[in-house]
Amino acid sequence: MYIVLLGSPGSGKGTQAKIISNQYNIPHISAGDLLRFIVYKNKEKYKDINNIMKKGQLVNNSLIISMVVRRLLKSDCCNGFILDGFPRSINQAIFFKKYFGSSIYLVLELLTLNEIIFDRVKGRLIHPISGRIYNTKFFPPINKGIDDFTGEKLIRRNDDNEETLLKRLMLYYKNNILLSSFYNRQNLSGRIIYYRIYGNGNVYDINKILKSIINSYL
Ligand code: AMP
Repeated sequence: MYIVLLGSPGSGKGTQAKIISNQYNIPHISAGDLLRFIVYKNKEKYKDINNIMKKGQLVNNSLIISMVVRRLLKSDCCNGFILDGFPRSINQAIFFKKYFGSSIYLVLELLTLNEIIFDRVKGRLIHPISGRIYNTKFFPPINKGIDDFTGEKLIRRNDDNEETLLKRLMLYYKNNILLSSFYNRQNLSGRIIYYRIYGNGNVYDINKILKSIINSYL
């Protein structure tokens, strides 16, 4: 199953993508995690990328496309994947459609209220190497500030502050108008399958809905 998961920052798509990746045994490919990983490993070389991310802007298409394509070419993606944070603009969506050819994929979009997004992002902590996500209020680690699996320190993303979140949300909504109409058209002509799902509830209820959609196309 090939899945593209769309949603604003803080919509819960990273959390759902990780759960679905385990449930269906398909790799979770997060564009943001791929970028954070290279920045974490080589701060000096990628300091421009780090600054772009810190400001809530999008990194250039050629870098993100080459990173995502390189990841999709790995053998674990032949039977499916769940893509999170890509495509994020109409140009990326058109590129991905051409790249993927005539194969059908499922586009699932989470629609989450801004007040819930702000609440989620406020408490978000991540393990920078694995991309594991915690939340001090909704999903705290066993030991405060520590990753449950490795015992390493959790960090707050440098773009998870109110000012940058607002910029990221505005950019998302602006790009999403074109993305959403692109996927609506593709859906109507039967080239892809596109669903929009409310992402305001708890993790398990949202997952149930996503699972029932995915299962109906297996
Ligand atoms: P995310 O982890 O999905 O919230 O992404 C974090 C940041 O990574 C974004 O705010 C962008 O700066 C960058 N980023 C992630 N995905 C993309 C993409 N598809 N195109 C351009 N920049 C991206």
